[in-house]
Amino acid sequence: MAKIIDGKAIAAQIKDECRAKVATLKEKGIGVTLAVIQVGNDPASSVYVGNKKKGCEYVGINSLAHELPEDTTEDKLLDLIGELNRRADVNGILVQLPLPGHINEDRVICAIDPRKDVDGFHPASVGALCIGQPGFVSCTPAGIIQLLVRSGIEIAGKECVVIGRSNIVGKPMALLLLRENGTVTVTHSRTKDLKAATGRADILIVAVGKPKMITREYVKEGATVIDVGIHRDANNKLCGDVDYDDVAPVCSAITPVPGGVGPMTIAMLLNNCVESAAQTI
Ligand code: NDP
Repeated sequence: MAKIIDGKAIAAQIKDECRAKVATLKEKGIGVTLAVIQVGNDPASSVYVGNKKKGCEYVGINSLAHELPEDTTEDKLLDLIGELNRRADVNGILVQLPLPGHINEDRVICAIDPRKDVDGFHPASVGALCIGQPGFVSCTPAGIIQLLVRSGIEIAGKECVVIGRSNIVGKPMALLLLRENGTVTVTHSRTKDLKAATGRADILIVAVGKPKMITREYVKEGATVIDVGIHRDANNKLCGDVDYDDVAPVCSAITPVPGGVGPMTIAMLLNNCVESAAQTI
């Protein structure tokens, strides 16, 4: 039976490490502050923002909430980001996505100072990752590397297959696995024979966005399977992109949903904020 990778426990470990680092920074007179901007009141976004605030509280990061009305103009949002970029006491700026349709997300992301880009979405951060320079890394894939490393799963030399090529998960995931010396294949909706590709994977990262799509036919016996998806099934129960009950018996390690990748995203966001503040020393 597969080892269940406990994302909740690993995220708690990282949060405790952040908490200790925040305390050390405070002793040196350095506070850590994250500005969170939400435009409109999409219920899912409000839940994510609430969880981020709770995470900040736990580790001792000050969170500045900017809750702006749905009809906020792009210029007004850009002005706010400019002001937060200039504030020496703000270490991280996070704009909760998606933004209302009248606002250009790319322009907003580009307006954030890369030194405060704790989501790792700015082109400068993505470019730095691509050419192996230091910079902030998108939190979900960064969290997946931590799940693997802290579970003692070696990446170097392994066949790593990523399903999905989104800017926030698939692409940075592939670059991070490459940085860890994995042999990386990226698959997507135009991949001709998905099962043939995934069947070679020692480490299979699934970010396809389709509930329970990945069954055991896609998985090599003994593989490690990381499930990024989050959905609600017909019974309103949370499930992932992987059919967990079908796949768990054939793999060596697997992340559950919930309690796998999900908790890591916030833990890595907090970690990025602490890193940002530490760089000001
Ligand atoms: P996207 O919808 O942006 O990307 C999905 C990717 O899957 C695309 O690259 C698409 O290919 C590919 N794809 C779709 N159908 C197929 C198919 N039949 N065969 C092969 N590839 C396919 O999703 P995200 O990357 O944003 O998210 C993926 C999942 O992870 C979602 O369930 C999301 O909710 C979840 N998520 C969870 C997070 C967490 O914290 N746990 C954080 C972020 C996301 P193409 O590019 O060709 O269209």
